[in-house]
Amino acid sequence: VTQPTQPNVGRVALVGAGPGDPELITLKGARLIQAADVLVYDNLVSDGVINLASPSAERIFVGKMAGNHTLPQDDICQLLVDKALEGKFVVRLKGGDPFVFGRGGEELDVLLAAGVPVEIVPGVTAALGAAASFGFPLTHRDHAQSCVFVTGHLKDHTVDLNWPALAQANQTIVIYMGITGLDTISTQLQAAGLPGNTPAALIYRATWPTQRIFACTLQSLPETARSNKVKPPALIVIGSVVSLMQSIETQ
Ligand code: SAH
Repeated sequence: VTQPTQPNVGRVALVGAGPGDPELITLKGARLIQAADVLVYDNLVSDGVINLASPSAERIFVGKMAGNHTLPQDDICQLLVDKALEGKFVVRLKGGDPFVFGRGGEELDVLLAAGVPVEIVPGVTAALGAAASFGFPLTHRDHAQSCVFVTGHLKDHTVDLNWPALAQANQTIVIYMGITGLDTISTQLQAAGLPGNTPAALIYRATWPTQRIFACTLQSLPETARSNKVKPPALIVIGSVVSLMQSIETQ
């Protein structure tokens, strides 16, 4: 926990809510949510996690609503600062882990600059939830020596990845936010030398009751997404570990 630089200031915890299943939150995350005066959350956080909060906690949704746009990131940062400066204990809940493609770093910078004490609680990132739910070890030793998490979405809406570095044998690639860039991803990875028949999968809402997996190949990824109308939130996983997929019963 960082130290306050202003009197009577509250504090903020950036808490990873996990991939969906509310039981995948950490004990620490759950304890802080229960203690929160204010809860700030977005789309990828399940009701089961939000409902851990006290009935008296103020709940502020900052995600995307149908037809509406997300609250701009600057406004979210400002909201966290304002509530903390009112002396509140604010829990900023983020899907998965706050520091994996979650813009937690930007929120941390703004809070620190404002002199607000901040604590970070990690969460189970979507890739780990997906691997557990569908039973494929991301680094099974017969298949992968490395596993990379990449974002398929850049600030300017293009996809520009280091294709040769990704197109390595014995590597598992997990792409977050990649659905709209699938044509580019599939074409560029093949051009960089990854075989078109490399096992791949699209995984929608891993660990949620509505989770789905669509197994395919690197080459058929775009068509598989189109024919099954796969929408975000979904992950793309590429690599031979996908062929180890099992159906796992959860309790
Ligand atoms: N901080 C989050 C990622 C935020 S980026 C984490 O650590 O998981 C948002 C993207 O994450 C989504 O577009 C999607 O690609 C992925 N994602 C998040 N939750 C998911 C889930 N339950 N199933 C599949 N993909 C998910």
